[in-house]
Amino acid sequence: MLIDREVSGQLQHKLDKITLDESIVKAKAALLNDIKRSIYLYRVDCGGCNGCEIEIFSTITPIYDTERFGIKNTPSPRHADIMVYTGSMTRLMRLPAIRAYQGAPDPKIVVSYGSCGCTGGIFHDNYCVWGGTDNLFDVDVYIPGCPPSPPQTIYGFAMALGLLGQKLKHTEITEVPGEQVPIRFETIPYKVRTALERKARLLSGYRSGKDLSDEFMTALALGGTDVFAGIDALIAAQDDPRKKEVLGELKAELKTQLASQEL
Ligand code: SF4
Repeated sequence: MLIDREVSGQLQHKLDKITLDESIVKAKAALLNDIKRSIYLYRVDCGGCNGCEIEIFSTITPIYDTERFGIKNTPSPRHADIMVYTGSMTRLMRLPAIRAYQGAPDPKIVVSYGSCGCTGGIFHDNYCVWGGTDNLFDVDVYIPGCPPSPPQTIYGFAMALGLLGQKLKHTEITEVPGEQVPIRFETIPYKVRTALERKARLLSGYRSGKDLSDEFMTALALGGTDVFAGIDALIAAQDDPRKKEVLGELKAELKTQLASQEL
């Protein structure tokens, strides 16, 4: 009946699977295979009993705490790297499921969660159910279970992100008894070092401030008997006026420190 009334193809009740463009498949393989930043997941319940949701929330909250692996929940598909579909694919949730999928930027990973998400589960023969998520999207990772436990969930997300492969490549660093981290710029007194680093971070932000104070203290350490010779050369060599200004401020701070400590 709906077809007779010329309602848009998307609103018809037949289930057309969404296929991926070849360029997206390639981008997916290249960009998501060895991801090195935190990732965001967005969850869509397509028609389950809510048991899967409870397990997902248990996974992302403090006891199992997936954030320690950089896996975070996002309230918007616009920010999602992973789309998690729970529950069986029902008629009413088909369009919201497609909308969420289309809202997430490519390339994205699709996870089919729970027995219902994987196959339709106990609702598979219900009049309004079309089976699992893979009837609508290409699924990258299936996490089976009714519901899957938090450890299973973390394992599935790790599989989706290639975290296991990254773990195999990780380097183990073991501390030898008595081992000490070498002190950087140890010829410069501790109070002067910390004052310079604080000032640089105050003026340029945490990361750039650290880089600038390192450059400044390297020049200071190389200066030998003439304390300001290396620093003046460093300041004169700068093209960036912002950097020049911060280094000038550090020089002023150094003078203050030297005067206060009578070095
Ligand atoms: S898989 Fe089990 S727990 Fe999850 S939605 Fe289906 S019936 Fe509920």
